[in-house]
Amino acid sequence: MVDVVAALHRHFGHTSFRPGQADVVQAVLDGRDVLAVMPTGSGKSLGFQLPALLLPGTTLVVSPLISLMKDQVDELERRGISAAALHSMLTSDTRQETLSAARRGEIRLLYVAPERFASDHFLRVLRDLPVARFIVDEAHCVSEWGHDFRPDYRRLKTAAADCRRSDGQGRGVPIAAFTATATPEVRDDIIDLLGLAEPRVVVAGFDRPNIDLRVRPVAGDLEKQQLLTELVGNRRALVYAATRRNAETAAETLQTAGLQAAAYHAGLSDAERTRVQDAFASGALQVVCATNAFGMGIDRPDVESVVHVDIPGSLEAYYQEIGRAGRDGRAAIATLLWNYADVKTREFLIDRDRDDAAGRPSVRLDSADVARRKEIEHKKLRRMVAYADSAGCLRATILRYFGDPAAREPCGACGNCGRRAPLDAPARLVVRKILSGIARAGERYGRRKIAAMLVGNIDELPDSLTRLSTTGLLRDEHPRIVERWIDAASAAGLVRVSDDQYRTLSLTPLGRDVMAGRVEDVQMVMPVARQTPSIRRTSRGRLGVRRHPTHGAARGRRTGQMGHTAGSELATGEAKPLDAVVEALRAWRLSEARRRAVAPFVILHDRTLTAIATSLPRSMADLQAVRGIGPAKLSTYGDAILSMVASIITEKT
Ligand code: ADP
Ligand code: ZN
Repeated sequence: MVDVVAALHRHFGHTSFRPGQADVVQAVLDGRDVLAVMPTGSGKSLGFQLPALLLPGTTLVVSPLISLMKDQVDELERRGISAAALHSMLTSDTRQETLSAARRGEIRLLYVAPERFASDHFLRVLRDLPVARFIVDEAHCVSEWGHDFRPDYRRLKTAAADCRRSDGQGRGVPIAAFTATATPEVRDDIIDLLGLAEPRVVVAGFDRPNIDLRVRPVAGDLEKQQLLTELVGNRRALVYAATRRNAETAAETLQTAGLQAAAYHAGLSDAERTRVQDAFASGALQVVCATNAFGMGIDRPDVESVVHVDIPGSLEAYYQEIGRAGRDGRAAIATLLWNYADVKTREFLIDRDRDDAAGRPSVRLDSADVARRKEIEHKKLRRMVAYADSAGCLRATILRYFGDPAAREPCGACGNCGRRAPLDAPARLVVRKILSGIARAGERYGRRKIAAMLVGNIDELPDSLTRLSTTGLLRDEHPRIVERWIDAASAAGLVRVSDDQYRTLSLTPLGRDVMAGRVEDVQMVMPVARQTPSIRRTSRGRLGVRRHPTHGAARGRRTGQMGHTAGSELATGEAKPLDAVVEALRAWRLSEARRRAVAPFVILHDRTLTAIATSLPRSMADLQAVRGIGPAKLSTYGDAILSMVASIITEKT
């Protein structure tokens, strides 16, 4: 048994392992196939460099970037470890010499570019080389769904199987794959396409505890601009936007506020981009407003604030972008300005036809592939939206997504953990009603059905839920608000959601205690409607939609009635139409008008659409009460309108 910590100290001068490193090193030494998922800069490479020093034979390291290879080889040589690289920038003589040296056993770590594996000559030479381990760095390159697909990575599985083992046990060398890309799809692809056999999967190091995570719901662009200026203040900052135009707008907003800001995106000339990069690097420029195309060029350690003015396309993009904050270990804040309307921009970016904007030149995608890729991107976007909407710990939400076991809830340093507060008596009563509802329904239903049961939407219920003692118990509330409370109860550990597709709700032991009144001391993030509308019933039982203040303000007075709890200041606002509903209604009206070959206003007037979007009817009776909806319209369009409204406020908010 080698003392790996002693070796760590002797060869690398480090006194202890970072999270995950010891597990990876051990699994690699044990000869297992390994998949290590760790962010860049977390000390991933040590996971194969240290074992390479402790095992007989040469360790092959496949790496896609020549510059990366050079850096690592130089660094190893500096530490007195023999390492070399094989890639297309070398003369064939040099390559021959390197291979001969490797065969003589003079090279511990041999870095190889993936395209080498397309060379028969190289493969022949490789067959005689005693290989300790086959390392695949940047292993996501094997996956088309990663961001950097390299077709040559597909050859690695066979190459590793053909390699001669340095322990004399024939052919087939253990593979250890390393990546910083943690999506489930990419992980599955790596295991599958590299042929990892019962791999040890180690995920670690994603937590960035010095970055405070925040989500700020905003009602529109004006609020966004105000908040942006506030959040940047006099801090060194990066601002991310979904489009070039939004990046420009953000930069202009900050300039107007007197700050040194510039936009940075692919639409600029090379010279202009370099100028911005250099200015930011030197400190002359305080803020860069970039699209995600914001390359790897800028890496100041002292970025204190990262603001996303639009929702990013995925959690991995988001986490990578905010990862540029606080590299010096000092406190930093990452804020997502969250307006559901921005999701449309993202959906558009996914769905638009591209002749492969992502630039995978050697791949030809047929339409099935394109469809699959879009589907995956939509799925990633959904996860991002779920993050923005989450009532639970934001950090834990991200770390769970990456599979990092460091996820502990509450983290105490995110916007939601900061908003956890003890439930007051009226709020506790609401929570107990919800918990009872889940219990009475037999813990067999999902959120949607439980909420419908509690508000008494009989039409949407299976028979068994229509006559419970809890049916209609929260009849004055909107189902969407009840759903948010269910989420909050789940984030507070009172309710469990099943992992399968049914997402059925059940009570945790703590949930049972709270339901029974045995436990009163509950910490919970009060659900606030996290975007433009807050929906509540007015005193006359009609729905009103109110703009909702930023959630800091919503903490103030609580009356305990759900609608009020969700933001007691709501009552002071004017009822406003929900834009998403107006838009959906407009689109529907247009297609309906075309179908019937009439003018749109013949179907419904604009003001009727607005009235619908303001009152958000839940039933035919609600809808009938809307001005401009007579009996004829009701019977012709009622169903279509109600289901459109329902799907938007239950799914899209
Ligand atoms: P990655 O390959 O994940 O991008 P590196 O392997 O380049 O990251 O490591 C990043 C930095 O962390 C390097 O400076 C490295 O020396 C340092 N490092 C790695 N492991 C440790 C450790 N156990 N203790 C202290 N520093 C470490
Ligand atoms: Zn938290």
